[in-house]
Amino acid sequence: MKDFNVLILGSGPAGMFAAIQLERMGIDRIAIFDRNRYPAGGLLNDGKLNFDYRVGIDLDELQIDRIDAQSLMQEVRQVFIEFPRCQQVTFVDGNKDIDEWEKVAREHNVQFIAPEQWHYGTDNGKKFVNYLRGMLRHTTFFLGTEVISIEKIPPSAKKEGGRYRFVCRKNQKTEKYSGKIVLAAPGRSGAYWFRDLSRKIGVNNDFGPIDVGIRVELNRKFYDSITDVVYDPKFIFQTRRHDDRVRTFCTNPGGRVRVENYGNFKLVNGDALSKHKTENTNFALINTVFLTRPFSDTTEFGQMIARQFFLLGGGRPIVQRVGDFREGKRSSKSTFNSKIRHFDRCRATYNAVPGDITLGLPARIVDNLWESMKTLDKIMPGILHPSTLLYAPEIKFFDTHFPTDRYLETNIEGIFVAGDGTGKSRGIVGAAISGIIAAKGIVEKYF
Ligand SMILES: Cc1cc2nc3c(=O)[nH]c(=O)nc-3n(C[C@H](O)[C@H](O)[C@H](O)COP(=O)(O)OP(=O)(O)OC[C@H]3O[C@@H](n4cnc5c(N)ncnc54)[C@H](O)[C@@H]3O)c2cc1C
Repeated sequence: MKDFNVLILGSGPAGMFAAIQLERMGIDRIAIFDRNRYPAGGLLNDGKLNFDYRVGIDLDELQIDRIDAQSLMQEVRQVFIEFPRCQQVTFVDGNKDIDEWEKVAREHNVQFIAPEQWHYGTDNGKKFVNYLRGMLRHTTFFLGTEVISIEKIPPSAKKEGGRYRFVCRKNQKTEKYSGKIVLAAPGRSGAYWFRDLSRKIGVNNDFGPIDVGIRVELNRKFYDSITDVVYDPKFIFQTRRHDDRVRTFCTNPGGRVRVENYGNFKLVNGDALSKHKTENTNFALINTVFLTRPFSDTTEFGQMIARQFFLLGGGRPIVQRVGDFREGKRSSKSTFNSKIRHFDRCRATYNAVPGDITLGLPARIVDNLWESMKTLDKIMPGILHPSTLLYAPEIKFFDTHFPTDRYLETNIEGIFVAGDGTGKSRGIVGAAISGIIAAKGIVEKYF
């Protein structure tokens, strides 16, 4: 059995930045495992980078203050901006237009956040990952290798006693690796598997909130006035009807609507290429849902909604024109691009099934989303043009949460967690920051 100092599960930004930090602190014999044949996780996804402590991280969850967050963000930023194809797309300092947008948003009781933003685009993802890998000298990658179990080797064992063992599957064969410390950064795709495993090995976890909503796609001319100033603007609404929180998220000017496939359901998402732009802009509009008693399982809640859409759409997401939504009727194939209804002003970039999004979303969520869209239309007149497209479901499963200490160590000694799949981040920069915190904790506590 090969033995390492640190076994890292997942090669997304959390795992990669943890490895970089461990090496910077003098640790060698690091192993990163990923079931994909290409390391990266979500680093291949679009690469919009938000450098603002208010976006993608939760200071309380990471047990850091604003100053710590800014300094960690600076460390991450340095790595990204040295990648030549990463371009700054939002300039914050001294930007008077941002002050104007803030003012308009405030007039409508909406919070507006304009972070410093950089972007490298889905088409540069692989080059970026190669650049990161080039920084690692003492890390071995085990790719196409799925971790199926994590075990503690009994302290009494002759060899490797007290260490951890990864049991993996590669090409139908079982392989085993041991290490002193485990860092689990399974991302959202591995979150439920890791949650189930954690329960078996005694690592505490619980449910976090979930974000449920839609992806809005519109003719970009209605949104260019804001995205020309802030590439990915964040508007946060507190709805009057239900006093709930709704926010815009992941804006892609000139982008495309994409789909994430989870087997028994599909979710909508969006991205943009660095060179090939479309005529449209898309963004997520999501409602944060907390569940308490008697049912707190936000995962099941989100999956129920997603499966409902899967059924209604015959296995594909549903899309509805605002013009149809306003009239309370479903969209249909025959009128989907109707010129007379002005639907031809926005050509869908994804082939979803024309239908009725209100059949699959709870009424409270529909109320919140529509109220927020109407407010946004006051800030940016035109976004509720009849041709605007509403795709569902867009769900952010950030719903697994691991209580940890400030080093991101769980209740089990030697098992650390980081990234989106464990409730420590929401986005690439946040995931990278959590990986760095865990790496520093590992070295401080165990080396
Ligand atoms: C379409 C799309 C667009 C996005 N655009 C942006 C964006 O522009 N900006 C932004 O900040 N965020 C964006 N995101 C979100 C971003 O991708 C995530 O926030 C980020 O990747 C989380 O990093 P992570 O390291 O926690 O997990 P991940 O990046 O998901 O990495 C986890 C890795 O663990 C591996 N893994 C899981 N389980 C196992 C197992 N059992 N064995 C072996 N390997 C395993 C997975 O294969 C994966 O590679 C986007 C997401 C999507 C889907």
